[in-house]
Amino acid sequence: MKELVRKNILEVTAYVAGKPIEETKRQLGLKEVIKLASNENPLGASPKAKDAIKKSLNNINRYPDSNSFYLKRKLAKYLRVLPGNLVFGNGSDELIDIIIKTFVEEDENIITADVTFLEYEIISKVLGREVITVPLRYFKYDLESIKKKINKKTKLIFISNPNNPTGTYVTKYEIEDLINGLPSNVLLVLDEAYDTFIDVDDFPDSLKYIKNENVILLKTFSKAYGLAGLRIGYALARSELVSCMEKARQPFNVNSLAQAAAIACLDDKKFLQQTRKIILEGKNYLYDSLAKLGLAYVPSVANFILVDVGRDCMDVFREMLKYGVTVRDMKQYGLKNFIRVTIGTKKENERFIRALKKII
Ligand code: PMP
Repeated sequence: MKELVRKNILEVTAYVAGKPIEETKRQLGLKEVIKLASNENPLGASPKAKDAIKKSLNNINRYPDSNSFYLKRKLAKYLRVLPGNLVFGNGSDELIDIIIKTFVEEDENIITADVTFLEYEIISKVLGREVITVPLRYFKYDLESIKKKINKKTKLIFISNPNNPTGTYVTKYEIEDLINGLPSNVLLVLDEAYDTFIDVDDFPDSLKYIKNENVILLKTFSKAYGLAGLRIGYALARSELVSCMEKARQPFNVNSLAQAAAIACLDDKKFLQQTRKIILEGKNYLYDSLAKLGLAYVPSVANFILVDVGRDCMDVFREMLKYGVTVRDMKQYGLKNFIRVTIGTKKENERFIRALKKII
């Protein structure tokens, strides 16, 4: 078999996704399972998005609009950018793949953090690109060390801001300092999958950075907008960069239901406000409850919290399952005593804390 498969693939450890609710029910014979494992929206999706999906069902015999024309026009207006600054992906996951294929030669390298969204490293390795990982500092991206790691072969830097799985962020001052000192042949990708949950003043106002030649932003409809199951995300960059990425994109990568839902949910400000409210309330409840249990956690600006459970995270993960709660163990990230819990509804958060109390 080894003779058939590319060496890179043999060396890659596959991405482990959050355990789906149905699978947990089936395997453990449980009736009710809650999922706090994939940073999804606990409120579901906007009713407007669901209505739009129902309406577009009549056309699923047709290929989707390969240019996402209406969505692009609407989102461009919403964000006050030009349609040419936008490119859509089958989730922002796919855009990570497209970005590497478009910009990174086979002998060039990619820099990111050692504990961050795993797909940067997995996709890079699948595509045979070298990845340099820089340790976090106090659970946060260390931009000073990243700068020092840039060498002649560096083409791209991935920064998850806020960082998944730590929930920490790099400030606008740090990012601007990095951008100002960036060699002109190095691209910076700011992945802002969780930007809608931000409640701090010094987070970068990153849309203005796309005027730069070498900055790309990544955003998604999977988190605050509640469309994870439909798979739709987008990148923002100068139109020259976008048109190159378009060449590496599959023509029908974003399905028609996703396009319709994304257009509709941009109109639902109320849903977004409710989502933000429930996340902030849930976060405060979880902070208090974790402190009462004597557990340390990393303060988060996103919709999840990294918790030091003080014991093997796999044991806690398995015990949690018995109580019908799925969280994310941090073994694959190299944090053996940590779990990451997504902030859920009030009821879900309470159930998680009850289970955690029993386990520890
Ligand atoms: N970036 C980060 C930092 C993420 O945490 C995730 C989802 N886990 C993604 C990108 C991918 O999101 P999607 O493909 O659903 O848009």
